[in-house]
Amino acid sequence: MKVAFFDAKPYDKPSFDKYGEENGIRFKYFETKLTEDTADLAHGFDAVCVFVNDTVNRAVIDKLNSFGIRLLALRCAGFNNVDMKYAHGRLHVFRVPAYSPYAVAEHTIALLLTSIRRIHKAYIRTRDFNFSLAGMTGFDLHGKTVGVVGTGRIGRAFIDICLGFGMKVLAYDKFPAADLEDGERVRYVTLDELFERSDIISLHCPLTEDTYHLINAETLEKCRRGVVILNTSRGALIDAEALLEGIKARVVGAACLDVYEEESEFFFEDFSGHILEDDVLARLISMPNVIVTSHQAFLTEEALRSIAETTVKNLLDFTQNGQCENELCYRGGSTEDCKSGKCF
Ligand code: NAD
Repeated sequence: MKVAFFDAKPYDKPSFDKYGEENGIRFKYFETKLTEDTADLAHGFDAVCVFVNDTVNRAVIDKLNSFGIRLLALRCAGFNNVDMKYAHGRLHVFRVPAYSPYAVAEHTIALLLTSIRRIHKAYIRTRDFNFSLAGMTGFDLHGKTVGVVGTGRIGRAFIDICLGFGMKVLAYDKFPAADLEDGERVRYVTLDELFERSDIISLHCPLTEDTYHLINAETLEKCRRGVVILNTSRGALIDAEALLEGIKARVVGAACLDVYEEESEFFFEDFSGHILEDDVLARLISMPNVIVTSHQAFLTEEALRSIAETTVKNLLDFTQNGQCENELCYRGGSTEDCKSGKCF
């Protein structure tokens, strides 16, 4: 089987080559992202493999279909970049639902500690032999309240770490997990209560119509003064302009962002020699209390191996058995895991 692999990075290749070769799948790596303009590169391939910032809209789906391509392997969990409604009946879409929730949860905590203990400032100061502590005062995590939106795999891994720090957890999920709440250290609350009572808010829900701009001017008004906002989920969960205003108004004490709404224009590429065209991103990065990483929360060796292994298994399962447990299906107005393997 020949697979066109878009948005390829050097760190993708070792694992995909290894699992691909072992299972008779040949990946052709394209550095470019999949868009309407680049979809022609998929001509002659049996399947397409994409990541978070590739675009799989109507035009792309039509093009892939015109080349006889019916298989789309997402090498990520989120699928907000795929028009799932239009894909129904046109493409079998597979994803990697979980590769290492610990990778993302641990990166979220790394960002939080870096921010509130000013490690990013200390690193630069001591390299310049500046050993002053002025402006370095942080705060203890122990005893603080963290609001966690989305208590799936990553949210739960993050909650476990927070509990280890002695924090209290207020959780919100559209589908709460009965076994998570203990009434004392972890409690499900309404979103409003979460906003009103959390010292730190961490987003671990998918990007959907419900969660688009979950953090906006109105919800920030409900938050505690000095709230720390963490987003390692999807950029558009936050209205970045409202966040910027919240930071300027000193409502938001700090923000740690691994994702950004307009990230597909910039993330994963080197713009160090350029003038950044996105004023909101540039202004956010200029803030002393904002830390931005470039969608790297997933990037551990364990996660890369697991992503490649599951992607290859998804393609094999479907081609050999006509069924794949990680197929996504658009039914009744929402996307869910396909139970039958016969979504079209
Ligand atoms: P998951 O499916 O295990 O959990 C998502 C949780 O969100 C579920 O419990 C679900 O019920 C809940 N949810 C759904 N709609 C909601 C709503 N409207 N409000 C509140 N909660 C809602 O997914 P996961 O593996 O924990 O991943 C979470 C998110 O993390 C993904 O959607 C993805 O966007 C993001 N992610 C980011 C990276 C990264 O590198 N930064 C890597 C992997 C995943």
